[in-house]
Amino acid sequence: MHCWTIIAAGGKGLRIALPGSTRPKQFLAFMGRPLFWHAALSFTRTARMRGLVFVFPEPFLEEAQTLLSPLMAAEAPGLPWQCVAGGESRRESVGRGLAALPAACDTVLVHDAARPFVNACLVNTVLDALEGGASAVIPGIPVTDTVKRVDETGRVLETPARDRLRAVQTPQGFCLTRLQAAHAEAATRGLDATDDAMLLEMLGETVLVVPGQESNRKITTPEDLNLLREREKATRPRPDFIPRTGFGYDVHRYNGPRPLVLGGIPIPTEITVQAHSDGDTLLHALTDALLGCLGQGDIGGIFPDTDPTLEGISSGIMLAEVMQRVERAGLILCHADLTIVAQTPKIAPHREAIRRNIAALLGLPPEQVNLKATTEERLGFTGEKLGIKAYAVVSALAAVSRETGGEEGR
Ligand code: MG
Repeated sequence: MHCWTIIAAGGKGLRIALPGSTRPKQFLAFMGRPLFWHAALSFTRTARMRGLVFVFPEPFLEEAQTLLSPLMAAEAPGLPWQCVAGGESRRESVGRGLAALPAACDTVLVHDAARPFVNACLVNTVLDALEGGASAVIPGIPVTDTVKRVDETGRVLETPARDRLRAVQTPQGFCLTRLQAAHAEAATRGLDATDDAMLLEMLGETVLVVPGQESNRKITTPEDLNLLREREKATRPRPDFIPRTGFGYDVHRYNGPRPLVLGGIPIPTEITVQAHSDGDTLLHALTDALLGCLGQGDIGGIFPDTDPTLEGISSGIMLAEVMQRVERAGLILCHADLTIVAQTPKIAPHREAIRRNIAALLGLPPEQVNLKATTEERLGFTGEKLGIKAYAVVSALAAVSRETGGEEGR
């Protein structure tokens, strides 16, 4: 047996053309690759397959070839393949695929590109039946719905016995000379068919049905696209990272022994703060947000304000220590959004210096740090100029171990 497969991707697929798109459905991406590639893959994984012929609509032939070249080279190196332009009808498109087969070929499978879930097991079932002597083999599954034949007004004409009905699929396998003869005859008589087996039936040939697979679904309607998305979700590998968000909040009273420092930047003002450390409200909120991402408690737990060695300590040092924990945990910082709430001093003149300094402390590009400032409309303790407060939100990515499903660096 010298068998090739024709992947019939010549249809216009208009029933599920996406809004604003003129590309046929077989070009839809599923798990990052076009649908027609998924349909073809199982054939490349079948030992008895000697080559593939893809049939595409003429306007998409070049694009398809460009998409296929690297995929075939990477996943089916050495397997001969080619692309041909389809015709007006399904029969014509398959006919052009038949014309492209090499002279040595004596057996052919025809598979619809809209069936991306075909597997090598089904391909082998069809090949086995052909090797067993059948000249036309099609997979079919029992029909579970009761089927009615109706007239053009919808009136029921008959109810065929369900146990003798089969919903047929592709790949359909044929002795090449028989299929060629059927196509030639159909072309002469101007007949078209929804599958290739039908052409042989018209000529009175015997067609054998072998068990198909429920999973070998055809992508036809927009609802089927949801099926694709669900399959993609189910087969998608676990993400390497999961997002983390940390929140921090801090307050300092004014009129203390420390000059005002915000985000590590000394602010030229008469305002002073009360603090055991240097009283950098913004860095305290930010440090708490980082600890929130880490799931490691709060700044007071790590740097207690009862520790005399921390008297007057720079908040930048505390932040640097927490940043070492971030590094040890393999946490990737993504963004920091900070808000200072104060009636006085004016933050605007210092905003950019503070933002850049915080970006440097976090090892982030400045555009990944945002700083806002607001007053509380003279309300509350900030409105009465009794103190200052700050909020911080930090987002980060935490590494996930694929083997255990747990997060690393705990
Ligand atoms: Mg504080």
